[in-house]
Amino acid sequence: MNEQRPDIATPKRTQEIVRRHGITMKKSLGQNFLIDRNVLAKIVGAAKLNTERGALEIGPGIGALTEQLARTAKKVTAIEIDQRLLPVLEETLEDYPNVKVVHGDVLKLDLARLMEEEFGGCEEVSVVANLPYYVTTPIIMKLLEEKLPLANIVVMIQKEVAERMAASPGTKDYGSLSVAVQYYCEPELVTIVPHTVFIPQPQVDSAVIRLALRKEPPVTVTDERFYFEVVQAAFAQRRKTLGNNLLARFFGKEGREEMTQLLAKLDIDPGRRGETLSLEEFAKLANALVERRNG
Ligand code: SAM
Repeated sequence: MNEQRPDIATPKRTQEIVRRHGITMKKSLGQNFLIDRNVLAKIVGAAKLNTERGALEIGPGIGALTEQLARTAKKVTAIEIDQRLLPVLEETLEDYPNVKVVHGDVLKLDLARLMEEEFGGCEEVSVVANLPYYVTTPIIMKLLEEKLPLANIVVMIQKEVAERMAASPGTKDYGSLSVAVQYYCEPELVTIVPHTVFIPQPQVDSAVIRLALRKEPPVTVTDERFYFEVVQAAFAQRRKTLGNNLLARFFGKEGREEMTQLLAKLDIDPGRRGETLSLEEFAKLANALVERRNG
C-alpha cells in the first residue's frame, strides 16, 4: 500500500481529482463530497468495523469514505450509479485490493444476492454511506424491508430526517418514518455535521445516524404489512385526530360507533393524535383491526 498518498477527503485533493477528471458534480444525483477526515473517522468508528467485517457502501463518489472503510474492514463493496465516477474510483482506490465497485442503482439491485456474493467470508456486514439526499428514505426503507443480514447501518443523512427517524412518541418529529425505522432497528444520532464539510455545500445540515438492526421486532404484529398501513393511516392527516383518520381509512362514515367501541376496548382515546401512539399501541390497534377484518 502506498502510504505517501494523501487522503482523498481534503479540499485540496478532492478538487485536484475532480478537476483532473473533468467531473462536474450532479445535484440531481445528490453529489456532495466529504472533505473532512474527522467526520469520516466518526462515521467509520460508529459502524464498529474490524478486519473480520464487511462494509457495503452506497454512493462512493470519488472514494473519500471508501478509502477509510478499506483501511478498517475486511472487504468493501461500493455501489455507484454514476458511470463517470468509475474510472476515478479505479484510480483513487487502486491501493486497496479489498474494494470492489459495482456500477448500478441501489434501488434496483438485488441486494440480498449481492450480499451473498460479496460478503461470504465476512462475519458481519454494515452499510456505511454518505447517502444521496434525494433518495435517503427509499434507500433506508429498502435496506430494512428486505431484511438484509446487516449488523448495522451508519449513514450521513439530512439532519431533519435523522431526527425524525430517532424521534420518540409525543414529539413533533415523530411520524410514520419513526415507527417504521424503530420497528426494524434501534436508532442513535451519532453527530450533527455542518454543511461546510462538503464540496459543493448542501443547503441543509446533516447528521450521522446509527441504526442497530433488531434481531426481533419490539412488538408482536399478526400482519406486518397491515401494521404499516394502520400507521400510515394514523398519520395521513396530522391535524386530524386518530379517530378521524381511522374512520376515513377503515370504517367509513357509518362506522363511528364501531370504531369508538374498538378503541375503548384497547384503552386508546380516539381524540388523541397519531403522533402520541407508541409502537406497542400501534401493534395493539393493528392486531385488533386485523381480527375485525378476518372476522
Ligand atoms: N461517498 C462520497 C463522499 O462521502 O464524499 C459521495 C457521497 S454523495 C453524498 C452520494 C453519492 O451517491 C454520489 O456519488 C452519487 O453519484 C451516488 N448515488 C446517487 N444516487 C445513487 C443510487 N441510486 N445508487 C447508487 N449510488 C447513487
